[in-house]
Amino acid sequence: MKKILMYAVCFSLFFALDANGRGIKEEGLCYLGVDIGGTSTKIAIVNSRGGIKEDIFINTNKDAEPEEVIETIVKAASKLKDYSKVEKIGVGIAGDIDYEKGIVRFSPNLPKWKQVPLKEMLEKSSKKKVIVDNDANVASIGAFWLDAKGEATNLICITLGTGVGGGLIFNKELYRGSSGTAGEIGHITIFPNGSKCNCGNKGCVEALIGANYLSKHAVNYLKKHKSPVIDKLTGKNYSQITPKLIFEAAQSGDDAAKELCKRMGKNLGILLADIINFVNPDTIVICGGMTLSSKNYMDYALDETKKRAFKSALEVCKIVISKNTDKLGVVGAAMLSAETKKQTLAN
Ligand SMILES: [Zn+2]
Repeated sequence: MKKILMYAVCFSLFFALDANGRGIKEEGLCYLGVDIGGTSTKIAIVNSRGGIKEDIFINTNKDAEPEEVIETIVKAASKLKDYSKVEKIGVGIAGDIDYEKGIVRFSPNLPKWKQVPLKEMLEKSSKKKVIVDNDANVASIGAFWLDAKGEATNLICITLGTGVGGGLIFNKELYRGSSGTAGEIGHITIFPNGSKCNCGNKGCVEALIGANYLSKHAVNYLKKHKSPVIDKLTGKNYSQITPKLIFEAAQSGDDAAKELCKRMGKNLGILLADIINFVNPDTIVICGGMTLSSKNYMDYALDETKKRAFKSALEVCKIVISKNTDKLGVVGAAMLSAETKKQTLAN
């Protein structure tokens, strides 16, 4: 049933017009995206505007050798109807990635992956060209196509999950920086003497609003403040506190949980204002698991942003919560393979 629906969507896209009434360009071209996650890998064939034509999910065996994981991916991808039409494969994976060489230096989700020449191995196995980048960069390309419909010029993508990541698109082109580490938005310091971050610094945005840290802050906060709802939900075992639980308590009107959401929102708002003042983007897309509960903190975030951002820069900036978090990685990876150095994402 899902496949029938997918083909119906694909058929309608084939004849669709874009926002400016132009026919979709190069409709026959399609790209293959692979989003390698810690528990599952998404594989999709995508059209030239980022629309998913076919997709498939497989389990990621994080304890397997890289060769085995790659073979499983190629085997699954080759079952897709249009696989033979695909010339290039784009791959997104979390970690420290050498984009130029396509080497996974380290991936937090795959402990056995150290200095893995993913591009070379996948090219050998698939007989297709391969391009590899980190998950935040591919998510920002996905956000450019799915949330901004390819219409943004300067787009910043913020991923809010266990950690806080980011990707930068300037003049419709992904900006990687001088050594490929651009977009580490989560490690912008907003409180010099704040909580210790995994990166070794103090007071990074990630150490304030990343999912793991949010739970730790809640535990500390509840040492001095009462939360009847969280007490009830956890049986006073605060090791069970998760962001989801905090958001649930806030929704039921719990004052302590609402205060934790307010603090998170204000910190996110400071980050948004910093980005707006520094980069002057036309679009900021916020995505990731934590955005499912964005109604709990977004108003606080936007209030803080309004207080801190330059008015003219704020006026031209659309701040949106992604409606496509689950698809950004795989679509972005596919569209990464569509991008070349001299060609911007959308002409
Ligand atoms: Zn940090």
